[in-house]
Amino acid sequence: MQKKDEKGITVKKDDDLSEWYTQLLQKADLIDYSDVSGCYILKPRSYAIWEKLQAFLDKKIKDSGAKNSYFPLFIPEHLLVKESKHFAGFTPEVAWVTETGSSKLSERLAIRPTSETIMYNSYSKWIRSHKDLPLRLNQWCNVVRWEFKHSIPFLRSREFLWQEGHSAFATKQEAEKECLEMLNYYAQAYEDLCAVPVIKGRKSKREKFAGAEYTLSIETFLPNGKGIQCATSHYLGQNFSEAFNIRFIDKDDKTKLVHQNSWGFTTRSIGIMLMMHSDDKGLIIPPNLAENKIVIVPIIIEQEKEKILKACSDVAKNLKEFNPIIDSREDHTPGFKFNDWELKGVPIRIEIGPKDIAKDSVVVVTRHDGKKNFIKMKSLKEEIKIYLEKMQQDLFDKAKKNIKNNTVIVNNWKEAEKALKEKKLIKGIWCDTMNCEEDIKNKSEGAKSLNIPLDELEVKSKKCFNCGKEASIICYFGKSY
Ligand SMILES: [Zn+2]
Repeated sequence: MQKKDEKGITVKKDDDLSEWYTQLLQKADLIDYSDVSGCYILKPRSYAIWEKLQAFLDKKIKDSGAKNSYFPLFIPEHLLVKESKHFAGFTPEVAWVTETGSSKLSERLAIRPTSETIMYNSYSKWIRSHKDLPLRLNQWCNVVRWEFKHSIPFLRSREFLWQEGHSAFATKQEAEKECLEMLNYYAQAYEDLCAVPVIKGRKSKREKFAGAEYTLSIETFLPNGKGIQCATSHYLGQNFSEAFNIRFIDKDDKTKLVHQNSWGFTTRSIGIMLMMHSDDKGLIIPPNLAENKIVIVPIIIEQEKEKILKACSDVAKNLKEFNPIIDSREDHTPGFKFNDWELKGVPIRIEIGPKDIAKDSVVVVTRHDGKKNFIKMKSLKEEIKIYLEKMQQDLFDKAKKNIKNNTVIVNNWKEAEKALKEKKLIKGIWCDTMNCEEDIKNKSEGAKSLNIPLDELEVKSKKCFNCGKEASIICYFGKSY
């Protein structure tokens, strides 16, 4: 049970992950609950993390040549049903507006679950000739998917934030190339900013996006033994251009359908990053995502108070590029402040007291390993840079090692069953058929394929680990979110 009046987190991450996560988010002041179940308030501390991810990806997207735009939140039903497989994939989760004031609408309006249909309706009007191609638009927005599964802030909520990119090309090659390019940017955002290692791959036939020819994804594996999808990029082929009649006159004067893709990155990234790194004391935010990389805590004795505060403010000026906070609150002890900033996940704490000033040095404590170091004032800026880089790398390496140590290669169902029971990530030669995946899901109480890794396409043995039929790919399976 959560004790609301206690400052720190009262359960251990390994003992009760779900309660630990709930307390972490609230006590570190990241989210609050709203009156609508499954919808959360992102407070400034978590929105700042999103803005960092957003800035990184927005630059990548624009540098690649795509442009930002905005399409309406409401999608008329006749558009949503146009691509039948796509519609069927979303039907159970669509929230509808059926009336305004006291009058009923003549047509139901869907609250955007994703924007393929509304955007492609415009694309069909805008694209006439090969000169109009490629058309590559991105939008940063919110989407609503009325999930009935237990909601978990960031990981599964009824409304979330994301970017969705939608491109139309004259050729299949261009559409496929961009599909992979965007996946690589997403992988960079996870690995370089969130310090979360990912597996790049293709989704199985059963798990691909409804309406796509194929879906590329990045996936990771959390310390609690669950796999999770991080981001996706879909090659849509001509499924939507057929349904929406998006045709162009090519250089050879022939009328052709465009080739399309779509790609998305969501606030789920924040939840994955938090679950991956944070600990019993609270948040651990990788330095590359931290708004304030340093907190300076003065250790005050009354007769030297002014001198100490002056030293703190000098250090803060010197370290300005790391956006430091000086915690000079007078009604709290240094010990209280240490715990408070550990809970909030500031990467580095600097302690400055009279003894430190006498020695012309400061105490530097790194959040992820709790190590204490004495650093000379004159080399502080350079040292801090090194500590932050090392922390970013340490977090990535730890997560990578955890994934490696928990991945089991399986040759048959017996081995797979045992490993899944032990909460491992499994990897085996597989047939990628709907029936086989359904069978695995039923037998294992919910394990599903994560993805088929892009860098391991060649396999020697040719028997599916589950059904024994001829198989030519390798796939990851696990219990997952
Ligand atoms: Zn099989």
